[in-house]
Amino acid sequence: MIPIAVSPDRGPIEPPEGADAEMVSLYEAHKKIYPRSVSGRFTRWRWIFVFLTQIVFYGLPWLEWGQRQAVLFDLGARRFYIFNLVLYPQDFIYLTGLLVISAFSLFLFTAVAGRLWCGYACPQTVYTEIFLWLEKQTEGDRSARMRLDAGPWNWNKVWRKSAKQFLWIAVALWTGFTFVGYFTPIHALGLEVVQRNMGSWEVFWTLFYGFATYGNAGYMREQVCKHMCPYARFQSAMFDKDTLIVTYDEARGEPRGARSRKADPVSLNLGACVNCSLCVQVCPTGIDIRDGLQYECIGCGACADVCDTVMDKMGYAPGLIKYSTQNAVDQKWTGKQVLRHVLRPRILIYTAILGAIVVAMLVSLALRTPFKVDVVRDRGSLARIAAGGRIENVYRLQIMNATEASQTFHIAAGGVPGLQVASEQDVTVESTQSRWVAVRLQAPFDAASPGSHTIQFEVQAQSGTATVSEKSVFIVPR
Ligand code: SF4
Ligand code: SF4
Repeated sequence: MIPIAVSPDRGPIEPPEGADAEMVSLYEAHKKIYPRSVSGRFTRWRWIFVFLTQIVFYGLPWLEWGQRQAVLFDLGARRFYIFNLVLYPQDFIYLTGLLVISAFSLFLFTAVAGRLWCGYACPQTVYTEIFLWLEKQTEGDRSARMRLDAGPWNWNKVWRKSAKQFLWIAVALWTGFTFVGYFTPIHALGLEVVQRNMGSWEVFWTLFYGFATYGNAGYMREQVCKHMCPYARFQSAMFDKDTLIVTYDEARGEPRGARSRKADPVSLNLGACVNCSLCVQVCPTGIDIRDGLQYECIGCGACADVCDTVMDKMGYAPGLIKYSTQNAVDQKWTGKQVLRHVLRPRILIYTAILGAIVVAMLVSLALRTPFKVDVVRDRGSLARIAAGGRIENVYRLQIMNATEASQTFHIAAGGVPGLQVASEQDVTVESTQSRWVAVRLQAPFDAASPGSHTIQFEVQAQSGTATVSEKSVFIVPR
């Protein structure tokens, strides 16, 4: 029988005429991965990051700051509250700065220590770890889960699977609720849930985010890292031979093979690897690190932890699988030598750029004026002659108070000789509110030649020294 291959690019490949045909797909069927639980120092670090990130994520919306939620992105009112900062859409530059800092941090950490973010702090890793832990509590560890899946449906299987689904859905919904709590005051949102009168958008986003958490952490797992995450695709471009990666010490481990604990590997012509396959069983992406660095490896260190346990039981030195660099493996460097090579020019440049951006952003935030002003010319009247023969132009000023106290602002203007504000000069704007004010400017009839003249509005907060200057034009009619 001759198989027909199905090529991903060219479709079915025809067999020779008269041949007996059987369909064979060149696509690899997806095999479910049952990661075995593991303990060790890298696993401890991962759990520390799970707790830290989730304490921040689940806890932050409940934190109060004065009379309001400490961190709230109020899209309806177009105000972002971050502790004592009140940001307006005009402060978009800070969001840009934050994204640039995140990108540079990622470049820096990746160049230093590979996929540290993926293995320890990425939400996909963190939620998968939580969902795996719940799975273990309800269905047991790897072999018990495999037996349960392969076995028939009976009461044991039904209650274990139901308990797992119940816990997964509860965590997913709580995650969705918390996410929405960053955009809608979470105390009010909680009350709406209890009274069952949540808004349709709030219901949609709670379910959507909850469903994404449930699907990604419960089912998609390593598929997200392998096929959906763009970072996984380009991170190799940031690697060099001094980047820390999880490596298998082939020279020490090979030839691999089983042996008794008491046996002398040298006399058996064996390396340190006992071929127990535990490093493959604990791997959340199901790869064998002994085959070398693969793009699927998220650098979680689970294989290093379990291999250290095996080495310990065998009475061998730990570190057959460890965080190391390509150069360190090739040139057999010590730990100190590896660390010395961390401070290479590329890392210093990334650090300097990152430091400069962080400092610039902090300085800019510290010097930020606590209000904003937008000037719009009144399109209804370009220029007119007012009482006393003076020339009058009308403007609309939007004053945004970015503090959480009521403020009074003094409006002045200059740029044309004798230019004066003929309307109310002192304007009060309530905390975090913005107010439109009609402003009339007048100048003597012969103050300037006919045409358009550049002028400046000077708006000063009476509670401090902050002043905002905004340009506009003053039109003198012919
Ligand atoms: S855990 Fe260590 S000893 Fe066991 S197969 Fe993997 S590399 Fe070899
Ligand atoms: S190979 Fe090791 S470090 Fe890489 S993902 Fe698998 S367990 Fe984690």
